[in-house]
Amino acid sequence: MKNRDIMKIYNFSAGPACLPDKVLNAASKASINYKHTGISLMEISHRSSHVIELFDNATKRVKNLLSIPSNYKILWLQGGASTQFSMVPFNLLPDKGIADYIETGSWSTKAIKECKLIGKVNISGSSVNQNFNYIPKEINQSTDSTYLHITSNNTIYGTQYKTFPKVLNENGYLVSDMSSDIFSRSFDISKFGLIYAGAQKNMGPAGVTLVIIRDDLVGLNYREMPTMFNYETHVNKDSMFNTPPVFSVFVVNETLKWLEKLGGVSGIETINRKKADKLYSEIESNDLFHCPVKKEDRSDMNVPFIFSDKKHDDNSFLEFCEGRGLKTLKGHRSVGGFRASIYNAMPETGIDKLIETMRLYSNKL
Ligand code: PMP
Repeated sequence: MKNRDIMKIYNFSAGPACLPDKVLNAASKASINYKHTGISLMEISHRSSHVIELFDNATKRVKNLLSIPSNYKILWLQGGASTQFSMVPFNLLPDKGIADYIETGSWSTKAIKECKLIGKVNISGSSVNQNFNYIPKEINQSTDSTYLHITSNNTIYGTQYKTFPKVLNENGYLVSDMSSDIFSRSFDISKFGLIYAGAQKNMGPAGVTLVIIRDDLVGLNYREMPTMFNYETHVNKDSMFNTPPVFSVFVVNETLKWLEKLGGVSGIETINRKKADKLYSEIESNDLFHCPVKKEDRSDMNVPFIFSDKKHDDNSFLEFCEGRGLKTLKGHRSVGGFRASIYNAMPETGIDKLIETMRLYSNKL
């Protein structure tokens, strides 16, 4: 039982994002007394059987939930998705190689910047010309690029790939930042050489980053690099080369257990579609609001919306929402207006309450 249940609070934050109550309760227990050991999980050595078992379980769950074939390794790393912006080219891009990147928002722009420090980048597509409100469909890949990097869901702008681009080079592969939509829908992993995702949206707290890497891409050693930057270091030590973020992995494992009970990724995908459909149709039918994102590219995870008429005051609507228990709906400063992040853990009742609040606000104007 959480205090916030006195008035049900819905947290629409883009990340760190809401987590299921069941997971928070398990985290609370584990932080005091882990599995009747009498000590907190935060005090237990990562060399203990408890923690080794926890990592094994979390890894197995990732493999099962995403149907990952045996030729992929699962890593639990630190440094956030932002560190992956550098680790990816450090490890995967040969000295004279080219990497294709599609620019669909601030996170991909940051990934491009880091890759340029290491090797050659070809921007194969960009939606910067329309403030990233769509996913570029016509893309210009180099025929000899090592990989094509995409951001599957753009947290700030609310766009999401519905189908993934085909890689032109037959020896090439996709690399994706899936920080804000991993575990929200099914996809075929075999087209991807590497996927990375910070935990703090669909998995757990910040502090751990999931990396899924095809095993032929481990240990390429194209260049000298810091030990911690080399995927091989972490593969060889089962993500325990140094002290790992055990508590964060525990919370991820609990979230994945919760997800299994909902029918896994295909189960949550149906729920996510329904939630997103409900909210977008309200935005479409309510004259007060407008969604700036191209219809076919709208994200099921982050829903930005603005007032149709600039004369209305954003803060007044945000305060109205806050008073009704709906928190963190302010849009990112580069888009303005509002953004409802409706990741896996946001219940449908949260969407219903938001829709009701939008209608009440319209009626009172
Ligand atoms: N990529 C995406 C799509 C994100 O949404 C974020 C964070 N919001 C990042 C990367 C950066 O993640 P981190 O803070 O874990 O470095």
